[in-house]
Order: sequence, then structure tokens, then C-alpha cells
Amino acid sequence: MAKLAVNSAEKTLYDQLLASASEDPAVVKSGGLKCQRNSTLKEFTSKIAAVASTDAKTFLVLQDTIFFPTGGGQPYDTGKLVWGADDSCSCSVLGATNWKGINIIALESPPPGLEVGTEVTQHLDWSRRWYHTQSHTSQHILSACALLHDIDTHSWDLNESGVSVDFKGANIEKFLSEIEEASNAIVTKNLKVEASWLDVESEEFKSTVRSRLLPAGLTGPIRVVDIPTVDKSTCCGTHLTYTQQAGLIKILSTTKAGKGILRINFGSGDFLRRQLEDYCLHVNKLGVLTKDKNLEKQMAKIEAVYEEKEKLKKGVKNLWSELAVLKSEKLSKAALESYDVNKGLSASDLGPENDADRDVCKEIATSYLQGLNSKPGVCLILAGCDPMTIYIQESEGLGVVDNLGKEVVKVLGGKGGGKKGVVMGKGGGRENLEEAKKILIEGM
Ligand SMILES: [Zn+2]
Repeated sequence: MAKLAVNSAEKTLYDQLLASASEDPAVVKSGGLKCQRNSTLKEFTSKIAAVASTDAKTFLVLQDTIFFPTGGGQPYDTGKLVWGADDSCSCSVLGATNWKGINIIALESPPPGLEVGTEVTQHLDWSRRWYHTQSHTSQHILSACALLHDIDTHSWDLNESGVSVDFKGANIEKFLSEIEEASNAIVTKNLKVEASWLDVESEEFKSTVRSRLLPAGLTGPIRVVDIPTVDKSTCCGTHLTYTQQAGLIKILSTTKAGKGILRINFGSGDFLRRQLEDYCLHVNKLGVLTKDKNLEKQMAKIEAVYEEKEKLKKGVKNLWSELAVLKSEKLSKAALESYDVNKGLSASDLGPENDADRDVCKEIATSYLQGLNSKPGVCLILAGCDPMTIYIQESEGLGVVDNLGKEVVKVLGGKGGGKKGVVMGKGGGRENLEEAKKILIEGM
């Protein structure tokens, strides 16, 4: 979601659009777009400054736009364009890309009647934008509060499934609850968030702006976002008007993301509300399943079920081992009786319902091969399904399984390998068992 994939043909189109748009003095460059001057607009009308199409997509540059292009960690906006008499035409906006300072809008398909000068009304997918805006502003607040504990923001990420910030510093875990509490205190204070454009050479910029990440060679004014007394950084993204619009900032989980880096997964605003709805739904479902409304009791019951399952698994494994001994005795007897026909191959399907693991298969094969009384032989075992286990073992030094085992696994549709006379595979099915047997018999 972070970036629209752009192929080389589209890059050529982008350059053509850039050249055309540069001739229109009304075109507003990235950094001063309508979405960056007023992040609360859901609709906005502007004229097309340049347009180009491929077979599948149409790209255009608008004189000004509320579609934010990917930048500063914030993903692009989507929505739709409406135009024509009585707004009779419309098409979906797939996204927006900042191309060398020009904002290029990608449309779903080449719609009719779009040309330079056409006036179009832009409609944002507001729930997507609002999620980005709440999350992005909350990240500013969290990062500022972390900095009070000498914890830097290494990077941050925002996508459909959530938002995270990577903190770098010492003892991060120790300060997390303080950072969360301080962040929510800022939310409650309802501070006004404002964007301004400061000259990068000005004294105000140099002395008051915290994060001064600048594009190489940049001179003149740059957009600065100010949360008074909290954070003043260069930023191109969209932000809340008041901190209270973040609702609540909550750290949801943490994961290690490199040496000295802790990834903080957090939520705020509407995203957090949806998370809470999901959580309540799951707890209610668990309540029905466990016949208990109390979360702690639910957990205890689930843990007990898993403990019981592990015990049963061990019990089943023991039963299989016992059955393996009986099975291998039967196999040895049958193989010795038909030894001349099958050249010592025992091919045995334990059945789809039978999840015999490697140890059980090994036990069966070893017993069978020992039962051959020094005659050379190969044992092929299929067991279980989804995925099926394929196990092939030969009598010592035969060399057939090392040469042909992988081929047999492939013929059965599985994947696997092995060495020293044992090959194991997973997956596939039983339909080619005869062909697999034939390969092994011919190889012996
Ligand atoms: Zn920002």
C-alpha cells in the first residue's frame, strides 16, 4: 500500500506529464498541494493540466489536488473523480505519486472525455485518509514523547493492517507506559496542530525545527508541522487539526526489529475503536465456546484443552509405535514371500487418516529391512494427508534411494530430499504410487 508500483513504460509517461504540466503556471507543486494547505477537505474541484494513458490506466496532473501522494511514511489517498454535465461521469482514483515534484494521479481505466482543461471534482476516500491522518499525527506525538527519554524514531510504517514506529535507544521497554501516558496527556490537552512554510535558511527554522530532514539541494520554504510545546518537524503528510481528534493512543504490542530497535505497534482513533470491536467480538465468541464470560477463566479453559491435546498426541504416538512393530512384522513376512517379484520393495500406505511421523516410519522401515535377513531391499511408506508423509529407506549401501528417492517423491507430487539411504517428502497424493514403485523396482 505504501507505494504504487510503477513500470518503466509508466515512468516515460510520467516524464511526459511532468513536461506538459510544467508549462501550466497554475500547477501547484508537491509540498504546497491543497491537501497540504488544508488537510480537512473531502472534496475539491480543479482543472486537468496534463493527461496520458496506457491500455490499462490513465494518469493525469491536476492544477491542484487533495489526493495526497505517498510521502514521509504516509501512504497515498484514493477516491474518485466526477465530471461532466450533472456530474454524469466518474472513475476511481487508484492513488497518487510524487514524481519529481509533480503529483501524478492514477485512474482505474481510461474514461472518456478527460482532457487538458476539463474541470473535475475530487472526492476522497475519507475513512482511509482519516485513518492515515489520525495514525500519522499520533506517531508525531509518540515520537516526541519517546525523545524525552533519549529514544529516537528510527522509522515508522503505516499500512492497511496497522501502524508501527521503530524506536532506537536504551531501555525502551522500561519507558513505554510513560511514553503512552504522556502521549495521551497531549491528546487530552487538545493542542492545535498547524502547518507553516519556513525558509530553510531562516533563523526560526534552524533554531526551532526538531527534525530537519531535507531533500538534497533544497532551498527556500519548506513545510513544517507544529504541535506547540511537543514537536516541530519538517513533514509533508496530513495531520489532525487538534490533538484531541486522535481520541486515544494505545501501544498494542512490541517486537524486536534489529539491534537496539524495538517496533511499537500502536493504534489510535477509529482504528483503535475497530480493533476494540474485533476484540469484543472474539471475547464474546470465546464466551460461547467456553461457556464462561470471564476472560481469565476462558484462558484457563483453553490452556487446559491444549494441555490435554498434547497429552493425547503423546498417547497416539505411543500407540503408533506399538502398531509399527506389528505392521513391520507383517510387511517383512509378505515381502519375503514375494521377494522374487518385487525385488525386495515394500510399498505400504498407512492410510490418509494415519499421521505416522518420521520416527514411526523409520521404525517400520528398519524392522522390515532387518526382517529381510541381509537381502537387499527398499521400504516406501505413505502416511496421512494434508500434507501426506513420504518415507523411503533402503538396506545399507544399496544406493537406490540416494539415486532415485527424490525422483520418487516428485512423481508422488511431494517435495523433499535426504541422504545416506533415507529420503523424506511432504505433500502430493497416492494416485501415482504404482509409478513410484516401478521406478524403485527398476532401479534395484
Ligand atoms: Zn507528519
